[in-house]
Amino acid sequence: MAIILKTNAEIEKMRRSGIALRQVHEAVAACVKPGVSTMDLERAALAKIAELHAISAFKGYHGFPAALCTSVNDEVVHGMPSEKKILADGDIVSIDCGVFIEGFCSDSAVTYAVGTPSALTKRLLEVTQASLERGIQQALVGGRLGDISHAIQAYCEAEGFGVVKEFVGHGIGKAMHEDPQVPNYGPSGKGPRLKAGMVLAIEPMINAGGAGVKVLPDGWTTLTLDGSYSAHFEHTVAITKDGPRVLTR
Ligand code: MG
Ligand code: MG
Repeated sequence: MAIILKTNAEIEKMRRSGIALRQVHEAVAACVKPGVSTMDLERAALAKIAELHAISAFKGYHGFPAALCTSVNDEVVHGMPSEKKILADGDIVSIDCGVFIEGFCSDSAVTYAVGTPSALTKRLLEVTQASLERGIQQALVGGRLGDISHAIQAYCEAEGFGVVKEFVGHGIGKAMHEDPQVPNYGPSGKGPRLKAGMVLAIEPMINAGGAGVKVLPDGWTTLTLDGSYSAHFEHTVAITKDGPRVLTR
């Protein structure tokens, strides 16, 4: 499959999609606290998505049952909202969401500390978020895709954290997942040449311990092999001649 370049008009639609998604994230963030279930977060997301006349990109995607992925502690990605999953002080929860507006998708994720995090957890969240920013800074016309990947990997591994290899970022547009794949690891100076009009979902998934993960029998929920906590931050980013433009901020 070829990488689909977007026109300026399409990028403006994607920006409107990204703004709506940000509003969904803000509605969810306002609910994150000890004692809340991950299904409570799902309900907050569904209400905001309906209010904005957006369409969930996740609900029904390959049978996924919810608008949010809610991944708690050692869950890396694709956790399913549940009434039984109650957030407690010291937990972390990764919220991943995607919506369509005007036929264009936006995709972003944030990991929140619930109550007071441990020092290691706090550092994990800071480093993962900072690694996303380092990746975004490499989303430059004339660069290579591997420049993004390498910036994320080098920073996180220097901090002693594990970079998940089994899941990667992706191109995004009229479909949630387009070419190219955007790994969070690999050498700089390699991969497709970055061009104006490419839109990428860049999404480091970083473990406080080793990089290994396993998928539960539900086919979705992904855990760290060693039980260490895992963080996930994601933005949808357009590559423009004026530099990277984050559409989901
Ligand atoms: Mg996502
Ligand atoms: Mg994504």
